Amino acid sequence: MNIIVCIKQVPDSTRVKVDPKTSTLVRAGVPSILNPYDHFALSQSLKIKAKTGASITVISMGPQQAQSVIRLALGLGADKGILLSDRAFAGSDTWATSYALAAAIKKIENFDLIMCGQMAIDGDTAQTGPGIAFHLGIPQITFCDGADVEDGKVIVKKIIDGGHQIMQADLPALVTMTMPFDYEARYPSFLGAFKAQQKPLEVWTAAHIGADPKKLGLEGSPTRVDRIFPPPARPKGEIFSGNATELADTLIQILKKESVIK
Ligand SMILES: Cc1cc2nc3c(=O)[nH]c(=O)nc-3n(C[C@H](O)[C@H](O)[C@H](O)COP(=O)(O)OP(=O)(O)OC[C@H]3O[C@@H](n4cnc5c(N)ncnc54)[C@H](O)[C@@H]3O)c2cc1C
Repeated sequence: MNIIVCIKQVPDSTRVKVDPKTSTLVRAGVPSILNPYDHFALSQSLKIKAKTGASITVISMGPQQAQSVIRLALGLGADKGILLSDRAFAGSDTWATSYALAAAIKKIENFDLIMCGQMAIDGDTAQTGPGIAFHLGIPQITFCDGADVEDGKVIVKKIIDGGHQIMQADLPALVTMTMPFDYEARYPSFLGAFKAQQKPLEVWTAAHIGADPKKLGLEGSPTRVDRIFPPPARPKGEIFSGNATELADTLIQILKKESVIK
């Protein structure tokens, strides 16, 4: 059984700011990390590997630096890494990204289960996984916090309002993962990190995956970003002083003024 996990290197979004003049993201000096939701997809895949002996291939589309998140995944127990890296991919929106990832997966040929994160913490669209399933013409189940494989089917726990749905799909299928209900954060051991250096990591270009250049990059991207801007700053709060009785009186006056109480 072959599992493919799609992983994305993202800027640590807690540290990214928007340049108010150019309305672009200021990434300089911001560390890059493995998208947390892709940690979840990988950790669930590693559980399936422990049970079934499956082989795990991780794929990432990005610049050469994205090799570091692939090595991290290899250190955690994935078997093989593929980086899609080519100037032709630059400027791709989610539609073109999912087309390229699907083309790479088709080239691998032998795949049973594709695992993605629910979303990337920089783009936040949650569109890439469904896009890959569309391009491959396979079933997809999104927003899962558990996944297992039995008798040629994937069985998942899908989060819905107020509970879970247990769903299954014939393989090959694509699942997008949020945090597994039994998630335990893992980091590569010293030995794991050492072994990761020996594991295969291939870099594929657009030509390798036989992708149509018109469907990649800006030309292949129907999305146009109009403007990026930070939310308006909240007005500063007011600080009152006094003893407990005075402060309670002040609070009551404010609540009355705002018609919260009579
Ligand atoms: C017009 C336009 C131009 C853009 N130009 C660029 C650019 O030049 N360079 C750039 O880096 N980004 C660019 N982007 C952003 C890029 O399109 C998205 O980051 C990418 O398509 C993934 O979308 P997302 O971040 O919303 O991921 P989501 O759809 O939220 O991600 C869901 C899951 O899909 C998988 N996934 C997503 N992206 C990748 C990936 N790259 N590799 C492997 N798996 C992945 C992961 O499993 C992830 O958890 C551009 C976006 C637009 C709209």
